[in-house]
Amino acid sequence: MTDSHKNSPLDGAKPRVRFAPSPTGYLHVGGARTALFNWLYARHFGGTLILRIEDTDLERSTEEMVEGILQGMRWLGLDWDDGPYFQTKRMDIYRAAGVKLLASGHGYYCFCTKEQLEDRRAKATAEGRPPKYDGACRKISREEAERRKNAGEAAAVRFAVPESGVTFFDDAVFGRIEFANSELEDFVLLRSDGGPTYHLSVVADDVDMKITHIIRGADHISNTPKQVLLYQALGAALPVFAHVPLILGPDKTRLSKRHGATSVISYRDLGIVPEAFRNFLALLGWTPPQTAAGTNEATPEILSDTQLIQLFGLDGISRSNAVFDNDKLAWFNTEYIRAYSAEKLLPLIEEEWTKAGMRVDTRDGNWLLSTIDLLKPRARNLKDFATSFRAFFTDDYPSDPAAIEKFLKDGNIRKMLGELADLYAALPEFTEAETERVLRELATAKGIKAGALINGARVALTGQGVAPSLFAVMMALGKERTVKRLQKLN
Ligand code: GLU
Repeated sequence: MTDSHKNSPLDGAKPRVRFAPSPTGYLHVGGARTALFNWLYARHFGGTLILRIEDTDLERSTEEMVEGILQGMRWLGLDWDDGPYFQTKRMDIYRAAGVKLLASGHGYYCFCTKEQLEDRRAKATAEGRPPKYDGACRKISREEAERRKNAGEAAAVRFAVPESGVTFFDDAVFGRIEFANSELEDFVLLRSDGGPTYHLSVVADDVDMKITHIIRGADHISNTPKQVLLYQALGAALPVFAHVPLILGPDKTRLSKRHGATSVISYRDLGIVPEAFRNFLALLGWTPPQTAAGTNEATPEILSDTQLIQLFGLDGISRSNAVFDNDKLAWFNTEYIRAYSAEKLLPLIEEEWTKAGMRVDTRDGNWLLSTIDLLKPRARNLKDFATSFRAFFTDDYPSDPAAIEKFLKDGNIRKMLGELADLYAALPEFTEAETERVLRELATAKGIKAGALINGARVALTGQGVAPSLFAVMMALGKERTVKRLQKLN
C-alpha cells in the first residue's frame, strides 16, 4: 500500500501543480516530460496547472526561448490553466519574503565581497575542506549589520541554516531523503543588487501560488533541503515533492545534444506525430498500472490522452533513470500514423507539404483521403508524404537514379510500357483488375515476365523502386496521370 498523500491531493483538495521552465534554452525532452507529468497529474485530479517562466537570469533568458517553450507545449497539446507568470514581474514578492526572513532572524546580511568569497573558497579547496560559505557575517550582530547596511555598504541576504540536525522530506518517488544541516551552506536569498536567487523565488512563488505538488527533475533533489528550510522558516506547509528520474541517451549518459535532437520542436520537424511523442514521453520514467482496473488485460503501450490521464499517478514513477530509445519513438510514430484516419492525418500532412514548398491540388477530397489511406501503412513519419510519396500528390517529383538504373535502363521495357500506356488509354474501365489483366496479357504476348513490366511501371509512376501494390498505385494516380507518366518514357 502506498501512503495516500503520495498520490492524492492534500486534504482532498484539488492539486495545484506548476511547470516552471527557465527560458535559457528551448523546451527540451526532459522539460517536456516534466511538463507532461504535471499536466497529467493536474488533469487526473481535475486540478490546476500553472505555467511559470523562471526568467530571473536576465543574461541567459530570452523572449525567443519563452516563445519556443510555449510553442513546444502547444505542439504536445499541453494546455495550462493559469499563467504564464513571469518571475521578473514578481520581484516584490521575493523581496518581501527576503525581508520577512531577515525580520524573523532566519536571514542575515552578508557583506563579504566576491573577491573575499573566491579567496576563501580557493583556500578551502586547497586545504581539502568543502568550499562552502564559512558563516563570517553570521556572527555580526543585527544592530551592527543594520548600521552597515544603512550606511550604504553592499550586502546580500543569506539564510542561516541550522548548525546541527537534519532536514528531510518524504519524496513521493524516492521516499524519505535526509540531509545533514552541517552539509548545507548558508545560501544566498537576495543578491547585493536586491535580485532573488532561485531558491528564494521558487519557494516564495510556490507558497504564493499555493502549489500542493512539486513534480520536477531529480536533478533538483539536492536543492530541496534548502527549499524545505525556507518553507519552515516562512511558516508554510510543505508541498508533496515528486522528483522524476533523469532521461539518459542510449549510451546511458545524461541526454544531451550529443545524442541528436533534444529540443521538442525538432521532433515535429522530423515528422513525428505529436500524440505519438506524448505517448512515448509519458512512458519515459512512468509505468502505468499493469492491468486496467477490474480486468486482467495487460495495459497496452499505445495510450490515448484520455487513457494516460486516467491511469497517471505518482506511484508509477520509477526511481531508475529512463533511457531515450529512438527506435521506440519511431515505432510509436508508425503506430499512430497507421491508426489515424486519413482525415486526421491530412492537416498534419498539409503542414509537411507547405514546409516542402509542394503545391497539391486538394479539390478532390475523396481521392486525397484514399491515397493517404493507401500510403499510411508504409509511412515512417509525416515527412514521407512530402518526400518518398511525393509522386502521389504532385507531378513535380524526383526519380531515384538507382531505381531507374535497375528497372528502366532496358529500352525494350520502356517501349513496352509506352504500348501499355496506349492500351490503358483505350480501356473503358480503369480498374485494378483491368489494369492488371492488360499488363499481364501484354507481358505474355511479348514473352517476358510480368514482373519486369511491373517494376518498370512502378519507377515510372512513383520515381521509386518500392511502393504499394502497382495496381493500387495506378488507382491512386488515376487514368490520366498513369497514362501520361508511362508515355513520357519514350
Ligand atoms: N526553473 C527550474 C528549471 O528550469 C525549475 C525549478 C523547479 O521546478 O523547482 O530547472
